[in-house]
Amino acid sequence: MTAPGLLPVAVLAFLLAACSGVDRPGVPATGAERQEARRVMQTAPLPRQRGLGEAAQHASLARVVRHIRPAAHRVCVRMKGANCGAILTRIPVRSDRREINAHVDGSHRVTLNDGLLRKAGSDEEIAAVLAHEYGHVIADHVDKRMGDAGTGALGGLLAGTVAGAVVCDRSNKGCMGDMVRAGGGIGLGLGALAYSKQHELEADYYAALILTEAGVPLSAGEQLLTRLARTREGRAGGYGPLGVAMARTHPADDERIARWIANRRALEYALATGLSTDAQLASEARRRVLDSGAGESRWANPRTGHSGTVTATKRWRSAAGETCVSYGWKSWQAAGRAETQGAETACRRAGGPWRVR
Ligand SMILES: [Zn+2]
Repeated sequence: MTAPGLLPVAVLAFLLAACSGVDRPGVPATGAERQEARRVMQTAPLPRQRGLGEAAQHASLARVVRHIRPAAHRVCVRMKGANCGAILTRIPVRSDRREINAHVDGSHRVTLNDGLLRKAGSDEEIAAVLAHEYGHVIADHVDKRMGDAGTGALGGLLAGTVAGAVVCDRSNKGCMGDMVRAGGGIGLGLGALAYSKQHELEADYYAALILTEAGVPLSAGEQLLTRLARTREGRAGGYGPLGVAMARTHPADDERIARWIANRRALEYALATGLSTDAQLASEARRRVLDSGAGESRWANPRTGHSGTVTATKRWRSAAGETCVSYGWKSWQAAGRAETQGAETACRRAGGPWRVR
């Protein structure tokens, strides 16, 4: 006989996998960046926490809001994000709660807790928190989570019914009821959690775009994530009322830091070179792979939020004495995250231009 409980979970996993989209928040991290993230998390020095009292917290938050809110609104409008109006009408607030946390509620208002404002080492770190929460607003995560929780519960009820029909004795009405209730409960939990890892990474990417727009150094985000990683409560962060459940699917801290480093480098590269269109950035990434022999090159555009990679798959010398490189490219849109990809081979004679075959 099938063990009760196993089947609903298996069916649920299938249902939830079927409805979960693939988000691509910025560029993927390399193995070297994952290693660097672990090192940063363990040994990087951090500014001392400021330990601000209530009045100083209000003053700091007011400064940060004045600076970050207009930038977040510009990013939202430019990238056709959701709830852009709410960024202007809902002023972020401070709460007396001691947990090191911040959240967005159903009306898209951002709340930063006393615990977090006290723990932060600078206004820039608070700016990184606010920008991250605005990321959730722009990507419409609160509404999506409500929808996911509902879809999960429905899937769970169905799975519970199917499982009940298989494992319950027909004369045992209580068994069937238990299975359906258990399925619904599991589904509700899994549905609400299904996207949360992706949501955190996506909000981090928007945060990087907002901080860039506001002229805040992106190192502030690394400091904040490192501080949270070294704080037990920080690891349990999330969405306020759902915070407890969130903790279990929060991305590993080093994964978030690695992604932050990857996106920071790609965005800083765009700023340093002054390249401003996706086509220019993608073409420069291709040039780096072709000319420098790099295995992979990433780009991210601070203006559009779009990003991409170019990856060499094969290098060889042709019979005619040309150097040839086969490579694949991918690019992602910030909003909607549509993916496009292709593959090409380019060859050149020594010192000559690359020609795509
Ligand atoms: Zn978050």
